[in-house]
Amino acid sequence: MQNLPEFRNEPYTDFSVPSNRQAMEQALGEVHSQFGHEYQLRIGREWIATDDKLRSLNPSHTSEAVGVHHKATPELANRAVECVHAYFPVWSRTPAEERVRMLLDAARILRRRKMEFDAWLVYEAGKTWPEAEADVSEAIDFCEYYAREMLRLAGPQKVVQLPGEQDELVYIPLGAGVVIPPWNFPLAILVGMTVAALVTGNTVVLKPSSETPTIAAKFAEVLLEAGFPEGGFTLLTGSGSAVGDVLVEHPKTRFVCFTGSRDVGLRINELAARTQTGQVWIKRVIAEMGGKDAIVVDADCDLDKAVEGVLVSAFGYQGQKCSACSRAIVDAKIYEPFLEKLAQKAKAIPVGPSDDPGNFMGPVISANARQTILDYIEIGKKEGRLVAGGRGREGTGYFIAPTIIADVDSKARIFQEEIFGPVLAVTKARDFEHALELANDSQYGLTGAVYSKDPERLRKAKEQFHVGNLYFNRKCTGAMVGAHPFGGFNMSGTDSKAGGPDYLLLFLQAKSIARKVGA
Ligand code: NAP
Repeated sequence: MQNLPEFRNEPYTDFSVPSNRQAMEQALGEVHSQFGHEYQLRIGREWIATDDKLRSLNPSHTSEAVGVHHKATPELANRAVECVHAYFPVWSRTPAEERVRMLLDAARILRRRKMEFDAWLVYEAGKTWPEAEADVSEAIDFCEYYAREMLRLAGPQKVVQLPGEQDELVYIPLGAGVVIPPWNFPLAILVGMTVAALVTGNTVVLKPSSETPTIAAKFAEVLLEAGFPEGGFTLLTGSGSAVGDVLVEHPKTRFVCFTGSRDVGLRINELAARTQTGQVWIKRVIAEMGGKDAIVVDADCDLDKAVEGVLVSAFGYQGQKCSACSRAIVDAKIYEPFLEKLAQKAKAIPVGPSDDPGNFMGPVISANARQTILDYIEIGKKEGRLVAGGRGREGTGYFIAPTIIADVDSKARIFQEEIFGPVLAVTKARDFEHALELANDSQYGLTGAVYSKDPERLRKAKEQFHVGNLYFNRKCTGAMVGAHPFGGFNMSGTDSKAGGPDYLLLFLQAKSIARKVGA
C-alpha cells in the first residue's frame, strides 16, 4: 500500500484503432442483449420489489427500455437511512487501508469492464463513444485519486508540539450521508461523490438520477464485488421529488452531497438547515449546481482555435455539461468573421443515434428536456438572430440541431438562464474589458475560458473572471481529475473542488488529541 505509484489519469481508448472499434461494437452488442432487465432495491441484505417501476429509455431509440427499476417509497427511504446509520460504527472503524484497498479494487474492476460501461453510457445517457469513454475514465480517476488522498489524510498530520505534551490531529468521518448525483455524468460524478464518502469512512444512501438508474445499478455491483459491505451503502432508486425530502430531512442524515440543478440544490440546502427532532448535529451540505459558462474571444487570438474551442465546448454531449459553453462573448473587431466560421462548422455537425460513431452529437436526455430546450430556442429567436439550427431533428430519438443565436443582449433570458442543451448565445463586446464584464454578468460562476495572445489581458482575466474553473486558449469543458479540481462559485455551488486535494476533507472532521507526557 505504501508503494502506490503516483496518480496518473486513465488513458482514453483510441477508437480509430480497428481492434478497439471492434471491441466497442462487441460491448454494445452484449449490453444491448441485457436490455429490459429488472433491478430490485437492496437495503442491507434484503432485496425488495415494489409495485412502482421506473423504465429507463434509450434516448437515441426511445422505443427501447434499457432497464426496469423498482422505485423506493418514502418509507423505504427512511429505512435506508436507518440501515446505513446503524452500520456506521462498523464501517468507520474499518482501517483506512482496508477501505482504500477496496477502492483500488473498484478501480480495477471498472478498468476491466471499461467498454461495457462505455456501452451502458452510450445507450442510457446518449453519450457518443468518446464522451462515454471520457466519463468512465474519469470515474476510474476518482477512485485512484481519492484512494491516494485517503492514505495521506489517514497518516500523521502536522501540528505544533507543546512542551510536555504529545499533540495530534486525526481526521474522522461524519456519519451516514445522502449522495444525490445528476444524470449527465452518470458514472463519473456518481462514482466520485460516492467513493469519496465511503473511503473516508462514512456510510451512504445513494439516490441516482431517474434518467440513468441502470448505470448506477451496474456500479453498485462493482462496489459489492470490490468488497464494500452491504450495510455500508444502499442504492435507492426512486424519484427525487418523492424520496428526496425524506432523505435530506431525516434526523440521522449527517451530510448531503448533491450535484444537479440550482433549484434542487437550494431546496436541499434550505431543508438540511432545519433542525429535526432528535437531530444532534448541523448537517453539512456539499452542493454543486448549474452553470452559464462563457468563453471570451479577444480580438488578438488564433481565430480558428477559438472557433473550434467554442464549438466543442458548446455542442459536445449536446451541451448537457455543467461546464458547457453557452455564451460566446466576442470582441467587436472579429465578431462577424468568428460568427461566420462558427455557424458554418455548427451546420456541418452530424447529429443522430449515439451508438453510431459517425455522429458527433447524440440525443438530449429526455422528451421533457427536448421540449424545454426547444422552448428556449423559440425565446432565443425573439431575443437574437438565429444563425444555425433552431429546431429539433426528426428520428428515433430526442435530437436537436446545434443552435446558435447571435446578437444576444446580456439581459436576455438565453444569456442568463441555464438551458442545458445545444444552444449557444453569441454576444458582441466593445473591447476586452467589456467582454470580461459581460462574462461576469451571471448568477453562476462555474467554468470559463479566454482565447487571447495578450499576456496582460490573460492576467486581467485571471484576476477578474469570477469562475471556479478558468481556462486559457482551450475549451472550457473536460476538467481532468488531479489537474483541474472542479467546482464553481456563487449559484454554481459550494465550490467543493472534486478531484482535488481539498475534496475528501468535506467528508471528514478533525479531532485534536493532546496527551500530557513526563512529570
Ligand atoms: P436535477 O434535476 O437537479 O437532479 C439532480 C438529482 O437530484 C437527481 O438525482 C434528482 O432525482 C434529484 N432530485 C430531484 N428533486 C429532488 C429533491 N426534491 N430532493 C432531493 N433530490 C432531488 O439535475 P439534473 O437534471 O439531473 O442535472 C443537470 C443539472 O446538474 C444542471 O443544472 C447542471 O449544470 C448540473 N450539474 C452541475 C455540475 C457541477 O459540478 N456543478 C455537474 C453536473 C451537472 P430525479 O432524477 O429522480 O428527479
